[in-house]
Amino acid sequence: MEECLFCQIVEQKIPSEKVYEDEEFYAFRDIHPAAPVHILLIPKKHVASLMELSPEDEALAGRLLLTAQKIARQFGLDENGFRVVNNIGVEGGQTVFHIHFHLLGGRTLTWPPG
Ligand code: C5P
Repeated sequence: MEECLFCQIVEQKIPSEKVYEDEEFYAFRDIHPAAPVHILLIPKKHVASLMELSPEDEALAGRLLLTAQKIARQFGLDENGFRVVNNIGVEGGQTVFHIHFHLLGGRTLTWPPG
C-alpha cells in the first residue's frame, strides 16, 4: 500500500515548511496557500479523516483543537479573525486522507466557501 503523504511529511521523507511540532502534532505551510497565512495541522498518528476518529482518540482530538489555538496565536491570526477548515471525503474537498485542519487567515474571508 502506498504510504500516506502526510505521514511521509512527518517522517521528513517529503520536505515541508514546518511551523510547529511536538510529540503528537506537526504543522506546516500549505504548498498551495489559499490565504496569506495557510497552515496545515495534523496529528502524527495516522487517522484518515474526522469520521475515522474513535473514542480512544478523545484526548487527542481535544489537544488538536488546543494546538490549533496555539498556532493561531503564534501567527497572530486571533487578532483579526481566521478560519479552521476540515474537509471530509471526496465531495467535501478532502484530497489527502490523513486528518488535517487548515488554518487560514491574513485576509478577509468570505462565506459560504465554494
Ligand atoms: O483538505 P485537503 O485534503 O484538500 O487539503 C490537502 C492540502 O494539502 C491542500 O491544500 C494541498 O495544497 C496541501 N498539500 C501540501 N503539501 C503537499 C501536498 C498537499 O501542503 N505535499
